[in-house]
Amino acid sequence: MPFNFVLMTNNLNHEKYLRDRLSELGLSEIDVHQEDYISQLDTKILYLSEDPEKAEKAIKNGHAAAIMFPNDTNNKGDKSSVEKELRVAFDGDNVLFSQDPESAKAIHGLESFKQNEDEKQDVPLREGPLKCFLEALVNMEKKFHAKHPNENFPVQTFLVTARNPVISGTRVLKTLKSWGLELTQAFFLSGTPKGPPLSMIQPHIFFDDRKMHVNEGLELGVVSALVPYGIGYETDKEAKEEEANHGDKQGNSVSIN
Ligand SMILES: [Mg+2]
Repeated sequence: MPFNFVLMTNNLNHEKYLRDRLSELGLSEIDVHQEDYISQLDTKILYLSEDPEKAEKAIKNGHAAAIMFPNDTNNKGDKSSVEKELRVAFDGDNVLFSQDPESAKAIHGLESFKQNEDEKQDVPLREGPLKCFLEALVNMEKKFHAKHPNENFPVQTFLVTARNPVISGTRVLKTLKSWGLELTQAFFLSGTPKGPPLSMIQPHIFFDDRKMHVNEGLELGVVSALVPYGIGYETDKEAKEEEANHGDKQGNSVSIN
């Protein structure tokens, strides 16, 4: 697999161990003690971190990035049939595609969103933050098939979008075609929950910009990462901050009493 892994750590306890492993494996290392290391990366990467600020910064610097969550539940699904391949599931809006459609939906309502997408179905959507990662996987697939024409590529990609398969989904399919990118399978859910398709796909990682969908994955034991991009993410973040502030105020009143 022509992946380049770059390990970033600020865990001083493990630094020598990690550095030794890196040099054994011939991998790169980035000094995360440098103030602005994310913006100094010269190639596009997939940046995964539990720190929302770092993931946000990576996206702002043009990298694919997502926030990871500790997953206490053991994966309940049967992974036996998928251990020989990597399965990656992507949401559409604000993940593979830009935030415009989500903005339209938020501002004008769902019906005007559908109308907009239908009218503009021949206008490709703009790139979202994870498009470069999908592109890297597809390029890898092309190289693999050039070398091994009779073998199956061991990476499967899935689109799991809330879009309607006909009206708003057409623009998505046409956009992917205009980019020359194909996914293994696409699920258009018309706003229904994402849990059932995730349960069926059993991805090794699922990317979505809405916490509610990330939670659906986490509840199934699927490693699910939040893409910090777009109006949906900002809205969720504000709601969470408001909730935390409210909680603080309640906490104070309890301690005073
Ligand atoms: Mg989305």
